[in-house]
Amino acid sequence: MALIFSILQHTKSFSSSNISTYVQRRMSLIPRVGARYMSSVSTVNAKANDRKENIVIVGAGIAGLASAVSLQRFGIRSLVLEQAESLRTEGSSITLSKNGWKALDAIGVGDELRSKFLELQGIVIKADEGKVLNSFGFKDEDKSQELRVVERRVLLETLASKLPPDAISYSSELSKIETGENGNTLLQLQDGTRLSAEVVIACDGVWSPTAKWMGFRQPKYAGHITFRGLGYFPEGQPYEPKVNYTYARGLRAGYVPASKTKVYWFVVCNSSSPGPRITDPSILRQQAKELVRDWPVADMLNLINLTPNDTLTRNPLYDRWLWPLISPPPSSGKTVLVGDAWHPMTPNMGQGACCALEDSIVLTEKLAEAMNSKNISVEEAFKAYGSERWRRVFPLTVMANRVGALLQSENKLICSVRNNIIVPKLLKPRTMTRHANYEFEQAKRNKH
Ligand SMILES: Cc1cc2nc3c(=O)[nH]c(=O)nc-3n(C[C@H](O)[C@H](O)[C@H](O)COP(=O)(O)OP(=O)(O)OC[C@H]3O[C@@H](n4cnc5c(N)ncnc54)[C@H](O)[C@@H]3O)c2cc1C
Repeated sequence: MALIFSILQHTKSFSSSNISTYVQRRMSLIPRVGARYMSSVSTVNAKANDRKENIVIVGAGIAGLASAVSLQRFGIRSLVLEQAESLRTEGSSITLSKNGWKALDAIGVGDELRSKFLELQGIVIKADEGKVLNSFGFKDEDKSQELRVVERRVLLETLASKLPPDAISYSSELSKIETGENGNTLLQLQDGTRLSAEVVIACDGVWSPTAKWMGFRQPKYAGHITFRGLGYFPEGQPYEPKVNYTYARGLRAGYVPASKTKVYWFVVCNSSSPGPRITDPSILRQQAKELVRDWPVADMLNLINLTPNDTLTRNPLYDRWLWPLISPPPSSGKTVLVGDAWHPMTPNMGQGACCALEDSIVLTEKLAEAMNSKNISVEEAFKAYGSERWRRVFPLTVMANRVGALLQSENKLICSVRNNIIVPKLLKPRTMTRHANYEFEQAKRNKH
């Protein structure tokens, strides 16, 4: 991952700042395009028995729960609609970088989570025959860096525990969304319930029905599939708190200690199509093992064997590039997209959830300002959120995709250059951690 990031940083035409500048130049054109999309959305009358809600958040994932907790800081209550019967507690883990922790600190849950997960000291990168290509500490060049693997279940439970018991409505799948004549948004749930919401914060994930309604195209398959799991060592896991990464041709894998008893692992392979959805743990385990069976990295096979069924997952990777002039803005009136619902990105830079958390902070601060001080309207607050966040998420989405394409290369020459020059000689701690040095605009303004 980082080594390709390094190449991209050195490739002038593809640098993050160039993309940002391009996006900035185009920003003024976007509302017009969005208006075209939204003009096709009809308005309907609210019915007398529609339930009235002030702020509805769709989706109790990372972005939805973080947004609800963040709004609570400003004394603003919201209702979270979640399609599942309970919090999504299955699945594995994610790495959270300094920017993710900064967002979790802002909403008051950083330290509680820190106490449960190990801080990672550095990374060791190997070739598939076992040779060490490079290793360094994440804080070698910048002491402020922070990286931990967090169990998704624990993250969601921690966020949900900060909300009142009735804040999340489970088994509430949004099935239809319409604009009401009074400017409210009408939400129809699968069970027939209808809500009339003044503000809708759509955190409904990569297949967001709200994004579809707003005119966004469906996310695109990136050509790679990730198998993940969480190895469990009841007597304590034996590893140093480091990222252990192995690069092969068209295949990479890694493992990272998450806590004293759990070790997160992943295998990424190429596939021309996403294939059928597989949830049977015995098939997932067998397919993941098959991919790394011939590697001398025996730890991987052991970890996969020690993985409980409910943490085994297989995810085809998708993203959506928010091209200026083509992509609609993330808000329409008082409905706004947050996290994967707006900008699904491949996990090659470990930034999807971190950016979803950043979104939540920026959006809720602007919304609170609009609702509490009335200096700006909600619509203006959402537009300001769209401008600020687009500059951040668009370049990252593109870069994550390109990093993945190059890291999964099956070309012998590219793999050789990677293993003999780029990783050992060019890869530095800052090339891996630079994107985590995000500062909220509000914080920047407060400094001046
Ligand atoms: C393989 C893989 C590895 C990753 N690794 C990392 C990593 O290391 N670091 C990182 O920062 N990010 C990582 N990510 C990205 C991260 O998982 C996502 O960016 C993050 O989960 C986005 O959060 P979200 O709340 O926007 O969406 P989600 O977490 O998908 O939550 C969406 C919620 O909305 C609900 N919902 C959907 N539709 C409806 C509906 N119609 N009605 C009601 N509810 C609905 C869903 O049930 C779900 O609870 C990874 C992703 C993948 C696939």
